[in-house]
Amino acid sequence: MSVEKKTSKISVGVLGFGGLGQAAARVLAPKSELVWVAAADQKGYAYCDAGLEADACIAAYQQKGSLGYLDPYGSLSSESIKDLIAKASVDGYFLALPNLPNTFMAAVARQFIDSGWQGVLVDALKRTSAVEQLLELQEELQQAGITYMTGCGATPGLLTAAAAIAAQSYAEIHSVKITFGVGIANWEAYRATIREDIAHLPGYNLEKARAMSESEIEALLDRTNGILSLKNMEHADDIMLELAGICPRDRVTVGGVVDTRNPKKPLSTNVKVTGRTFEGKISTHTFTLGDETSMAANVCGPAFGYLKAGIKLHRRGIYGLFTAAEVMPSFVK
Ligand code: NAD
Repeated sequence: MSVEKKTSKISVGVLGFGGLGQAAARVLAPKSELVWVAAADQKGYAYCDAGLEADACIAAYQQKGSLGYLDPYGSLSSESIKDLIAKASVDGYFLALPNLPNTFMAAVARQFIDSGWQGVLVDALKRTSAVEQLLELQEELQQAGITYMTGCGATPGLLTAAAAIAAQSYAEIHSVKITFGVGIANWEAYRATIREDIAHLPGYNLEKARAMSESEIEALLDRTNGILSLKNMEHADDIMLELAGICPRDRVTVGGVVDTRNPKKPLSTNVKVTGRTFEGKISTHTFTLGDETSMAANVCGPAFGYLKAGIKLHRRGIYGLFTAAEVMPSFVK
């Protein structure tokens, strides 16, 4: 007999319907605990109280350019997020939005606060400075009745949480080293992810990467044979582990290799946590993701696990900002 308490179905929205948003729709399709009712892109949104169908939504987006064309549930809008919040009844949203400019996600959080909406928000933000902006909204989120789970993708997210667990064997943490390998068949499937990764390359920043035309991005990828090698990235895993009391942020490093022309991972994604045990031994725990798991699986799975965990907190009246290193994700059936 199951000892887990029965809860009513959780209605879920997805903001942003690019690479991660579409993968999120596919991840949600077989779930019985979550029902996917709402989604928005830059030009429109779709809402159906009884549940949206992934194939039809993806077809409308890919063939016509927006969810707004989905018949009969779509609406075109230049303020799709605002309009969807006003129209839809949703318990929790996954924010699969680009964070360009770097203040965008905090601006979306503020939009939710100002709207009077209450529920759970989950993001897969990457940059430390972006999470710092959300920290400034802590009190307002609490007062608004919003439980906001930040940094809940793969890295930050799954790997940061794994580091928080691995740290428990040690009396002192010396280093947390995250190395990721991502393989995607073409960069157009994950435009924001690739643009934001380019911003970490020497000689680039977010403004420069944001201003690049698509042909400039293609020319850059031609020069590197489709490979982006990233070192010492500004990644929020550091502030999340610091906030969780695990180690100072300067002991956390993140880097990786992205192949934009081959779905095979160029290296195995892993996190190495080195520390000293109470007996004085120095050791390293390594957690390695299976090579067959895609970026989409490792981002969307945790995002909805944290959404379910956020719903549990919200139902107990616990609001405000939490990170993936602070709360255990729940497994979604
Ligand atoms: P994408 O470019 O494929 O899609 C972005 C979507 O957002 C599009 O549908 C676009 O129409 C929509 N959008 C843009 N502006 C909007 C607006 N104002 N209102 C409504 N919709 C809007 O993006 P992606 O590659 O799926 O990446 C999404 C985000 O996920 C990026 O910020 C990326 O860095 C992040 N990400 C995080 C992790 C992690 O492990 N934490 C991993 C991969 C990607």
